[in-house]
Amino acid sequence: LRQVTKTYTRGGETLRVLDELDLAMEAGHFYALMGPSGSGKTTLLNLIGALDRPDSGEVIVAGEDLARLSRSELSDWRAGNVGFVFQGFNLIPVLSALENVMLPLALTPLSKKERRERAEFALDLVGLGDRLGHRPTQLSGGQEQRCAIARAVVTDPTVILADEPTGDLDRDSADQVLELLRRLNAELGKTILMVTHDPHAAESAQRVVRLDKGRLIGIEQREPAAASMTEGAS
Ligand code: ATP
Repeated sequence: LRQVTKTYTRGGETLRVLDELDLAMEAGHFYALMGPSGSGKTTLLNLIGALDRPDSGEVIVAGEDLARLSRSELSDWRAGNVGFVFQGFNLIPVLSALENVMLPLALTPLSKKERRERAEFALDLVGLGDRLGHRPTQLSGGQEQRCAIARAVVTDPTVILADEPTGDLDRDSADQVLELLRRLNAELGKTILMVTHDPHAAESAQRVVRLDKGRLIGIEQREPAAASMTEGAS
């Protein structure tokens, strides 16, 4: 991000949420994004995921300057490059785990058989290979979040954007989700940007980006990162 400014206007007042933010993040790394409530973390995630545009400045993700893309190009770019994971899982209650995970593939040219195979693979990857027919209400919170992660990775995105993915989970389920994100980074090379308030969750990341009042406070390198331990062991 170069000199990125984002404002919101509400009730005649303009709020500067990101303020000429410069931030470079490297592909293939696992970042935690921390900062006080209202510091602009979700706004930043939305800009990187092309859900929103900045007022000014450049957002370049996976080599693409997002400002150059039209609305429909942005939506294609998003579908091919970004997987989203939210605090509240956002699964569709009337669909099975398998159907939820197949959804992002609905508009691809893949056959139904291929879509099914990819979704089964993704659910296997997150440890839910034996829960394909379960509806979200028949899954635990941790399983729901792992299902949502399968849905995020089924399109093989380069970047995973996770907004408080462990915020609604107990410690054990949160640890499983964090371990899964570490594996997606270490084994599949996914770039991960995870917003979190939880210092324990942030320990899973290799680097911690700190924001305050829409400005970058600093980037801390954490050692040893889980990903590099895995690399060292292989
Ligand atoms: P939290 O940790 O509480 O989730 P955050 O760091 O993610 O906070 P943002 O969600 O990016 O912060 O919001 C930053 C500020 O922008 C907040 O003051 C919020 O109220 C405001 N804001 C966010 N989205 C909008 C919007 N669509 N319209 C108006 N104001 C908004």
